[in-house]
Amino acid sequence: MDKYLQRLKEIYRAIDESYAEAQRYYSFSCEGCNDNCCVTKFHHHTIIEELYLAEGLKRLDKDQIKNIISRAEDVVRVHKSSAEDVRVLCPLNEDGLCLPYPHRPMICRIHGVPYELFRNFKMEYGDGCYRFITAKNNMTKDFRINRTGFYLELAQLEREVREALNFTGKHKKTTAEMLLSIFCSR
Ligand code: SF4
Ligand code: SF4
Repeated sequence: MDKYLQRLKEIYRAIDESYAEAQRYYSFSCEGCNDNCCVTKFHHHTIIEELYLAEGLKRLDKDQIKNIISRAEDVVRVHKSSAEDVRVLCPLNEDGLCLPYPHRPMICRIHGVPYELFRNFKMEYGDGCYRFITAKNNMTKDFRINRTGFYLELAQLEREVREALNFTGKHKKTTAEMLLSIFCSR
């Protein structure tokens, strides 16, 4: 699996570079944000991202893992019993910090700044997170991260991983669900 994880790392590196470029362009940072996007119910669709996240969690000790599992169970419970857009903190966020930061999934890296994405034969646009939009209200959103290439590369990588693992099912999980898979089903 190492060669696939390495390729994902490269995709992430390119995303981080684009994100940093957008941040510089807009003089935008997440510092002091009260509208933490770690409470968003993001879904992740790739096995390779779960495997990469699992790698990043290997350095944690038993107590940290126990706490993460407990928080993940709580989050799954809240998600199940609430509306789709319920906001509850990601189990990996501890004291405002992402525990496996270098291994966080793609959406956590790319969320927040304006983007464009070509899919389903049309171009989609996003204007950034709420804080970005309110802070940069008077700015033309003329710099957008183009997510298309990143999504295509990730999709291709995922296809190869599934083939290697002989996996044909669906993979759609929140971070909390991925954590329970990582710690409780392996
Ligand atoms: S994985 Fe990290 S960055 Fe992503 S939502 Fe969880 S704590 Fe936040
Ligand atoms: S991306 Fe937006 S919502 Fe998320 S932490 Fe940064 S400023 Fe806050």
